[in-house]
Amino acid sequence: VLRLDDVRKSFGSTQVLKGISFDINPHEVVALLGPSGSGKSTLMKCVNLLEQVDDGQIWLGDTDITDPRANQDQIRSRIGVVFQQFNLFPHMSVLKNVTLAAIKVHHWDKDRARTRALELLDRIGMRNKADAYPDQLSGGQQQRVAIARALMTDPELLLLDEITSALDPMLVGEVLHMVAELKSQGTTILMATHEMSFAHEAADRIVLLRNGVIAENGTPREVMDESTNPETREFFAHFR
Ligand code: ATP
Ligand code: MG
Repeated sequence: VLRLDDVRKSFGSTQVLKGISFDINPHEVVALLGPSGSGKSTLMKCVNLLEQVDDGQIWLGDTDITDPRANQDQIRSRIGVVFQQFNLFPHMSVLKNVTLAAIKVHHWDKDRARTRALELLDRIGMRNKADAYPDQLSGGQQQRVAIARALMTDPELLLLDEITSALDPMLVGEVLHMVAELKSQGTTILMATHEMSFAHEAADRIVLLRNGVIAENGTPREVMDESTNPETREFFAHFR
C-alpha cells in the first residue's frame, strides 16, 4: 500500500528525517513510535503531502506521490487523516463536517455524500448526532466523527496522528476501540501514538524512530519486549 524509500526532510539546519525506508502491506496496522520531536508527525505530513520531502520517494500503490506532477487532490482522496485535535469545524454540524471535503474537494454530489456519511455515522452509532455541533459532543465522539470523515472516500490508507492524546483518559478507550474495529475490518493504518499498550496489542508492526532514522522495525514483541538495544529498552522502560 505504502512504500517509503530513503525519505529525507529538514527544517532549516535541523535534519528531522535522515533517510527513512519502510513498507506498509495491505491490511497492516503499523504503529509509528518515538520520542517527542523524533519526526513522527513530520513523516505523516510528508505522506499526506502537507510537507514536501527534500529527497527520497513515497509510493502509494503504484503512484509516486513525491513526484511534483502527481495529482494532489486525487492522492489525498486515497489517504484518510485524523490529527490530535481541531479536526472538526465548530460552526458546522456533524453531517456537514463529514461531507464537506467529499463535496468541495472531491466533487461528490450532495446526495451521495450524505448517504455515505449517514452510513458511516450509523456504523459508529452516531447517526442520531448528525445534526449536532461538535461542542455538543464529547472529545471521544468528536474523534470518532473525525475518523468517519477520514473514511468517506474509502481510502487505501488511514493516518492517525496521536488521535487520543488530547482526550480525557476516560474517553480514550472508545476511540481505541474504534481503531481496533477498523483493523478487524481490514483497514490499513499508520498510527503515531503514545499509547504503548494499545500499540502492543493492536499493531502488527512497530516502527521506532530515533535521531531521524528507523531504530527498530518489527513485531510488537520483537521491538517492545525482546529488543537487546539499550536505547530501545530504555525508551519502552519509561512506559511501564
Ligand atoms: P510529538 O511526539 O511531540 O508529536 P513528533 O515525533 O511528531 O513529536 P515532529 O512534530 O515531527 O515530532 O517534529 C520533529 C522535529 O521537527 C521537531 O524538532 C520540530 O520542532 C521540528 N519541526 C516540525 N515541524 C516544523 C516546522 N514546520 N518548522 C520547523 N520545524 C519543525
Ligand atoms: Mg507529533
